[in-house]
Amino acid sequence: MKFCPRCSLTLTTKEDGGRERLACPDAGGCGFIDFGDFSIGVGAVVFDDDRALLVQRGWEPNRGHWQIPGGYAEHDENIAESVEREVLEESGITAKLRDAVGFRHSIGGGIGGPSTNIYIVFRLDAEPGEPSFDDDEIIGAGFFSLDEMANMEGVQGLSRWAIELALRAPHGSGMQAVDGPGSGRAGWTLFGLEPGGLL
Ligand SMILES: [Zn+2]
Repeated sequence: MKFCPRCSLTLTTKEDGGRERLACPDAGGCGFIDFGDFSIGVGAVVFDDDRALLVQRGWEPNRGHWQIPGGYAEHDENIAESVEREVLEESGITAKLRDAVGFRHSIGGGIGGPSTNIYIVFRLDAEPGEPSFDDDEIIGAGFFSLDEMANMEGVQGLSRWAIELALRAPHGSGMQAVDGPGSGRAGWTLFGLEPGGLL
């Protein structure tokens, strides 16, 4: 990045938070500082009883491999909507978010691609329906038990980890959307542990 994305001035450097960062020289108050490139991914363990939803990749890399549905959260999208949307787009299944079971943090340039990424795995409950897919980006979709997955080729390791974690953790033990400071503010969701929730 060479020019300010807000006002197009040539960026200079500025000390902020203990580091030299690219920053806009506009003394008038543009205020842009380059803090780096971050993204949020969402993954969905969608349950139908004790079976979980897997989709089969149609695109490289790893065409033919099976994984839980998921994708990127849009910057202006409620995260519950992101994960429910990705499930519907990839599998045709309508599912409702239950709770969050874990996340992976990866530093930019590594497994998460060019940006530093947080990939949050949620548990969702499927509404009745048969999986469907576009036969392009996704070339297969279905609900499978862990026993069935053990005999499938190309089940992504991170997906299997997420499914096992989600199956072991008691119902209601994950972080759920809760009321708290800022509740009701547009675009604001608070997730927290619910002691004595739905056990
Ligand atoms: Zn600027």
